[in-house]
Amino acid sequence: MGDITRAAVLRAIAEYDELGRAEFLTKYGFGEARSYVLVKDGRRYDSKAVAGVAHQWTQGRALRPDEFSGGLGAAVKWLTELDFLVEGIAAEAATWGLVCNPKLFDIDQLRRDGKSLESWKVTRFKGEIAPGDRFILWRSGNGGGVMAYGRITGKLRSEGLTNNGYWLEKPPPADYVPLAVDEWVDPVIPRNELIKDPRVSSTSLIQQPWAGLPHRLTGDTWTAVMEAVSSADAGSGETDPGLRPDTPGRAATTVQRVVRSSGVVRLVKEWHAHRCQICALRIELPGGAYYSEGAHIHAVGAPYNGPDVTSNVLCLCPNCHIMFDNGAIVLDDELTIIRHGHAVGFLRTDERHAIDPDYVRSHRERWQR
Ligand SMILES: [Zn+2]
Repeated sequence: MGDITRAAVLRAIAEYDELGRAEFLTKYGFGEARSYVLVKDGRRYDSKAVAGVAHQWTQGRALRPDEFSGGLGAAVKWLTELDFLVEGIAAEAATWGLVCNPKLFDIDQLRRDGKSLESWKVTRFKGEIAPGDRFILWRSGNGGGVMAYGRITGKLRSEGLTNNGYWLEKPPPADYVPLAVDEWVDPVIPRNELIKDPRVSSTSLIQQPWAGLPHRLTGDTWTAVMEAVSSADAGSGETDPGLRPDTPGRAATTVQRVVRSSGVVRLVKEWHAHRCQICALRIELPGGAYYSEGAHIHAVGAPYNGPDVTSNVLCLCPNCHIMFDNGAIVLDDELTIIRHGHAVGFLRTDERHAIDPDYVRSHRERWQR
C-alpha cells in the first residue's frame, strides 16, 4: 500500500474528471472527503478516493476505503510525497462554544492550583464534535465573557471524568470531550463588549444560552473573538515581541499565568502563510482566510518555561500540533521530522524564521527520556 506513482495519480484524476465526482466515488465505493482534498489546477478532488484508485495502475487493483486511512498516515502522505497539493477542508475545523458556570465548576481554583482543564461536558452535537475542532470557553454570569480558547484533542467519552474535584456539586452523568486550552484570556473579554459585534450576538451562545452544550459557532464568530483577543493583547503594552529574547512575563495577578503574546505566533504564521511546517497542509476557511496554529517547541507553561519567541514557535496544522505536543512527532538537530520513531521528511523552513536547535533538543529530550 502507498506504492503509487505520480502518473497513476494523474490517471485517477483524469478518470475523476471524465466520470464526474459522484460517479467516480460510486464506482470505487468511496464517500465524499471530509478532511482533505487534493487541489490540482484550481480543482478539488476527494484525496482518499484518488489515492485509492491510483493503486489499480501500480498494484493491479484499486484499494477499498476500509483498507487505508485518508489522513496523514496514508493518503495525504502518499500524495504530498508525490508533490501533490493536499489541503484540509474547513468543514472539519468546526468551532464550538463551551460554557463554564463558575457557580457549578470552580475554574478559578483549578487555575490557582496550576491544573490544566482537561475536558468539558457536552450534551448535543455528539456525533459531530471531533478532534482538531476549535473551542471558545465562555464564562457565564456576572463578569462573563470569553475566558479561553483552544482545541478538542480526542473523542467523546462518558467515563473517566477529569477535573473531578472542581465540580461544586456532582454533575449528572454526561459525556465529556477531551480538550487543551491554547490560551487563557486574562482578563476575560467581557460579554458586553463582544455582543456589540453581530458575529457574536447572533450566535446561540447569546440567543439561546439554555440550549445545551456545545453551541455551534461559525468561522466568523471565531474570527471576531480572535480579533478581540488580539486587540486586548495589543493594549497590554507589549511591543515587537518577535525580537524579545527573554522569557514571557509573569503577570502579578492572583492567577499566575504565562503572558502569551499572540504577536509572536502571528508573525510565524505569516512567514509560512499558514502552511503546516510538518505536513504542508493549509486549511482554508469559508471566506478565503486560512487557519493554522502556533506551536511552541519547548513548552511555554510550567514546569518547562520555554520562551515565547519566534525561534521557539512552529506554524502547524491542528493534527500535527497535537502530535508534536504529545511527542508523537519530534525533530532531530537537522530538523528531520521523526514520526513514531521513523524519519518521514524535513521540516519546512523559511529564511526569515530561524529555529533555535536548543529548543528542538529540549522538546525531543522531553519525550525520549
Ligand atoms: Zn500538519
